[in-house]
Amino acid sequence: KNIQIAIDGPAGAGKSTIAKIVAEKLGYTYIDTGAMYRAVTYKALCTGIQLEDAQALEKMLRATEIRLQPSQEGQLVFVDGENVSAPIRSNEVTANVSQVAAYANIREILVAMQQQLAEQGGVVMDGRDIGTHVLPNAELKIFMSASVEERARRRQLDNEKRGIPSSIESLIEEIALRDKKDSEREASPLIQAEDAMYLDTTQLSIDAAAEAILKLAKE
Ligand code: C5P
Repeated sequence: KNIQIAIDGPAGAGKSTIAKIVAEKLGYTYIDTGAMYRAVTYKALCTGIQLEDAQALEKMLRATEIRLQPSQEGQLVFVDGENVSAPIRSNEVTANVSQVAAYANIREILVAMQQQLAEQGGVVMDGRDIGTHVLPNAELKIFMSASVEERARRRQLDNEKRGIPSSIESLIEEIALRDKKDSEREASPLIQAEDAMYLDTTQLSIDAAAEAILKLAKE
């Protein structure tokens, strides 16, 4: 049976790393919805569209092709045919993405795309509003979190691998601010779905967290 698995939670909780493993083990497709909000933000920054202008952003998005492509190294993201998988992770995109993701008109378009991608089941989708809005009928919903210090430490290791230097203090600040914006926005805020399982990964290894989810998926 090809189910839908929704994984939500704040920045840096381990969602994408763990979701990728779970998807691979089940032979499912992994869908990183944050990459779509990042792709919109990246294109707006590149083309000089004002991030305060929700109408202009919507017009841009309606004329943009965003494509997600599964690969060995995880999900690749293409914007108008260009592979933007690396640049959408830049500090500049990270600092601005929550502003773009707060617009209801932008969310409406991306959520419709996400729902279409998950239609057939057999997906592990990660984001902020998957269990609450995108896939309310998902068979398994996980809300993943970890202490902000631990999430910042993981982000730092992640950044190091990609050659981006960053201090723990600035990462804690950045993560806390992004969580605040994502939790306090009006449109589909970051919140645990009532029927989601809470998974704290502060003390949990990647493999242990993936195992826990796989076990639930097989029940
Ligand atoms: O998951 P990631 O950190 O890449 O997400 C980047 C941003 O995209 C989040 O901080 C949030 O503002 C937005 N987002 C969202 N809803 C989702 C996924 C991401 O609002 N389902």
